[in-house]
Amino acid sequence: MGAQLKPARRLNAKGLPAPQAVTVLALKSLSAGQDARTIALIYELAEWGMRPRLILKLVGNAARATIKAMVAKAQGAKTTGGRLPSSLGEIMYRSLGHLEASIFLRKYIGFLRIDGLGRRVDYEVFIQAYRDYRASVSWMTRLPPRISPEVAFLIVEQYAVEKILLNPCPECTIYFVQTQDIVRVGSEFTRGSCPFCKAAGRRRRT
Ligand SMILES: [Zn+2]
Repeated sequence: MGAQLKPARRLNAKGLPAPQAVTVLALKSLSAGQDARTIALIYELAEWGMRPRLILKLVGNAARATIKAMVAKAQGAKTTGGRLPSSLGEIMYRSLGHLEASIFLRKYIGFLRIDGLGRRVDYEVFIQAYRDYRASVSWMTRLPPRISPEVAFLIVEQYAVEKILLNPCPECTIYFVQTQDIVRVGSEFTRGSCPFCKAAGRRRRT
């Protein structure tokens, strides 16, 4: 019976287009318990430009070498570098970025609830929410998303440890990201104010 299941020839990534080569590479190095769906999700994160270290932290259960190889294939020569986002104040500094961060978190929380999950970091929910956020933003603005997957991951991590809240604005009722503690946003010290009202107020003044 075993002979029937034997592949006709050995898998070889050489000479294949990037996505197939990545799949072959991943199939060869992932353990039996890691399925093709995980591979596809990791590949999606890599294509969005998330760095290997963060993909590993988010996904956790896939092999380090595989993730690095997949990211290298997906991103080609241009790897994501630079300083990792670390501060919530930076995210809230620009109203449109703050608004998009709020859209993303609302989706993430929504998917967590559908799956019956509490406040936590869940990579499948993360990918689902980020994919949905990207699609909504590109449909609404016809522009690339302002929140990178790395910033989105920071938001999710901070939400899981209750450092971030999503509250409705008493004026316009949209849900927006606020911090539990006071943070520095530009020259202000705040928990964050509604980005929609802020942007609208600025438009009215000019
Ligand atoms: Zn508002």
